[in-house]
Amino acid sequence: MTGDLSKMKMYIGGEWVEPASGEYFETVDPFTAKPWALVPRGNSADADRAIRAADRAFREGPWRSMHASERGRLIHRLGSLIEEHADALAEIEVRDNGRLLAEMRHQIRYIPKWYYYYAGLADKIEGVVHPCDKPALSYSRPEPLGVCVGIVPWNAPLLLFSLKAAPALAAGNTIVMKPAEHTSATALKLMELVELAGFPPGVINVVTGFGKEIGEPLVTHPLTRHLGFTGSTATGAHLYSLAARDVKRVSLELGGKSPNIVFDDADLDNAVRGVVGGIFGATGQTCIAGSRLLVQRRIHDQFVEKLSAFSGAARVGDPRKAETQIGPIANAMQYDRVLGYIDIARQEGASLVLGGKRPRLTECEDGFFIEPTIFTGVKNDMRIAREEVFGPVLSTIVFDDQEEAVAIANDSEFGLAAGVWTSDMKRALRMSEQLDAGSVWINTYRDISYTTPFGGYKKSGLGRENGVEGIREYLQTKAVWLSTAKEVENPFVIG
Ligand code: ADP
Repeated sequence: MTGDLSKMKMYIGGEWVEPASGEYFETVDPFTAKPWALVPRGNSADADRAIRAADRAFREGPWRSMHASERGRLIHRLGSLIEEHADALAEIEVRDNGRLLAEMRHQIRYIPKWYYYYAGLADKIEGVVHPCDKPALSYSRPEPLGVCVGIVPWNAPLLLFSLKAAPALAAGNTIVMKPAEHTSATALKLMELVELAGFPPGVINVVTGFGKEIGEPLVTHPLTRHLGFTGSTATGAHLYSLAARDVKRVSLELGGKSPNIVFDDADLDNAVRGVVGGIFGATGQTCIAGSRLLVQRRIHDQFVEKLSAFSGAARVGDPRKAETQIGPIANAMQYDRVLGYIDIARQEGASLVLGGKRPRLTECEDGFFIEPTIFTGVKNDMRIAREEVFGPVLSTIVFDDQEEAVAIANDSEFGLAAGVWTSDMKRALRMSEQLDAGSVWINTYRDISYTTPFGGYKKSGLGRENGVEGIREYLQTKAVWLSTAKEVENPFVIG
């Protein structure tokens, strides 16, 4: 079986390379549960090779001396190539992670905007002249950090890759990216476009493999200066501690248990669509999933009924079919984990009002499918309300007034996002001030843009991606002093 599958290669220093170990692992299509290609199993030797290639490209190559406008032109060209090949990239992404083809096409057609935005920003990063109190001209220069490592998960592989790559490159860094072991194909495919765009060798590198085997060596490598990580809070915290040993900079985009809060004056049809998109979109496998539904008591029963009817009618099945609304879970491990949480919720005493099992459809026989699942009667101290499930499982919690809604929403170790559904804009604005979350959506959910900072409060992360703030993660400030004094004064008294 394995012998028939095509072998992918890693991309290091502008060359397509085999892993040092000579070992490969299978990547599996979650719809068929069958392997479809072989991915290089990188280890610390590959990590070292990639980081050294990136370091050389940063120090010695044309990238360093290239004017920022020229850097921007290359980044823009890469965006155009992605736009041209978006549909082909979407097909590959679906094969690896089972997301809906329609959604992945939409997402990958949107990705070029990140490259265009940061390409435009590359030559607009300005320093400042300080109003100095000494006889000197003092000014600051924003400078790149050096080699930046990006480690990304499997739920939106190319999007999350680009959120890191585009600003890191625009700031003048070189990068080594590691996609998740379940979804390495699009990152490697993208390297064909990087070659076409004409990036100097070593500026963009992709290595593949497992977290412990190649991810950690990338983070701990002495030449790595920054880690951009998206993934679980446990892994992020671990990598943060490894980076801290060498005082490396980190940006972390971690887990969530985001509340979607529906008040009794909301437009309930819109709120239903928003709640469904928040938890069943992408089969619930997003860090921003609105996995806690907080509903005001007066409309609780009516809302749950509407929501269950809408969600129960969603078409589960082949992610490649245009009419499918909910695809499979992306991999076997995650599938078992989600089913485990459904059991936990039952044991904790939550009431199952929808789903909770595999769908009985021949189309879904082999894949990792779980029906859209809704629990009511959830208390905020239950595990199902506190821990990230990363699947199509919604926990419904009832509240009486705004104060209680805020208290429940904020009683979480996470703080990635929150949704508020109400027709009272004063209340919406007060809520946006009171909620501990990096993004607050009012009468909408799951919006992100290349223009708007995104990141977490509390254990949901550190730093911001997107917008002008996003590029600052990849810059450091150098202060330059140029004396205007006639002579160096008393050398023994500084100040
Ligand atoms: P998820 O639950 O989304 O898979 P993880 O945090 O386990 O989240 O994985 C996200 C990314 O982090 C993947 O690319 C994975 O290979 C990588 N990863 C996991 N563990 C480690 C580790 N110990 N060191 C470096 N990278 C890791």
